[in-house]
Amino acid sequence: MTVVSMGIPRLPGQRPSVADRPDVPVLLDRFGRVARDLRISVTEKCSLRCTYCMPAEGLPGLDSEQVLSAAEIARLVAVAHRELGVHEVRFTGGEPLVRKDIVDIVARSAAAAPGVALSMTTNGIGLDRRAAALARAGLGRVNISLDTVDRAHFAALTRRDRLPAVLAGIDGALAAGLAPVKINAVLMRETLAGAADLLAWCLERGVALRFIEQMPLDADREWARSTMVPAAELLAVLGDRFDLTEIGRSDPSAPAEEWTVDGGPATVGIIASVTRSFCSDCDRTRLTAEGTVRSCLFSDVETDLRAVLRRGADDAEIADLWRGAMWEKSAGHGMDDAGFVPPERSMGAIGG
Ligand code: SAM
Ligand code: SF4
Repeated sequence: MTVVSMGIPRLPGQRPSVADRPDVPVLLDRFGRVARDLRISVTEKCSLRCTYCMPAEGLPGLDSEQVLSAAEIARLVAVAHRELGVHEVRFTGGEPLVRKDIVDIVARSAAAAPGVALSMTTNGIGLDRRAAALARAGLGRVNISLDTVDRAHFAALTRRDRLPAVLAGIDGALAAGLAPVKINAVLMRETLAGAADLLAWCLERGVALRFIEQMPLDADREWARSTMVPAAELLAVLGDRFDLTEIGRSDPSAPAEEWTVDGGPATVGIIASVTRSFCSDCDRTRLTAEGTVRSCLFSDVETDLRAVLRRGADDAEIADLWRGAMWEKSAGHGMDDAGFVPPERSMGAIGG
């Protein structure tokens, strides 16, 4: 691992500054936001190489002892729930299903934090074989990434010819009752022409589709504000085939804005992280696979919980460190600022 390619953790022992922080248990930041939604990356490895995320050769591999174990993940989930008021946990990566012990991670987390909603973001490969076990272990629902239903196009975007495996994964999730199954599609110039076909396919399968504006989190650093596809352009393309009516957000911190399709009840969502930023309502806190807290996808400052956990810290000490890390969360991602610089880590290394 190099610092440049994998991020900039705080040095062990270096603490966030909390002198002006009110003494409240929750994950409050300086702008009054409270994080209640935890994203945990369980690995940086992946079975695909999506061009908007991973480099063709994959990310530099981490040694197994660098990555949090199932028991360590469950401990941090328990701390987040009991001490910090987190009420939703999503497992992500890299690809969470690449971890052989993913069912154990879910089962231990469910036992450690009863009542917390557990979900997963996955590319779906291998989900047909594991969906039932994951549901039994306590997983409530899944978001599955699928950018196109055209096989050649899928292979070009992901650098792997695995569309049939993803479709089998979607069927597996539906059969296991991991509902609602949501499909995430990153909006790219190359996917725009097939966007209406993808929506038609999702309507037919009874799964909810959300498009995501592409963010500058690709390892190849190809993203450009001037060439990305904005939500408005997608709406124009979908509007040629479907009758769309705006219904807005289900709650202020929900990233997706929703539209009914052809009078409903089916809907389509758009997560316009770039052109209609929702940073002021963000309620996320993130843990990387190595156990560092990131207050934002776009912040390179990371606070190392793994080090304190492994030297035997109690829950209160871990929670305090986590609170400090979130207190320093910045107001927004700053993508529209003149001097914007993308974070060192790409999406697959942070956990999307
Ligand atoms: N491998 C899993 C998957 O693809 O669903 C989980 C990890 S992936 C990093 C999480 C989500 O981030 C996916 O929905 C993916 O499409 C999205 N994503 C990856 N790179 C992105 C980017 N540059 N901009 C916006 N979304 C991105
Ligand atoms: Fe892998 Fe998900 Fe990144 Fe695609 S978006 S390369 S599936 S981690």
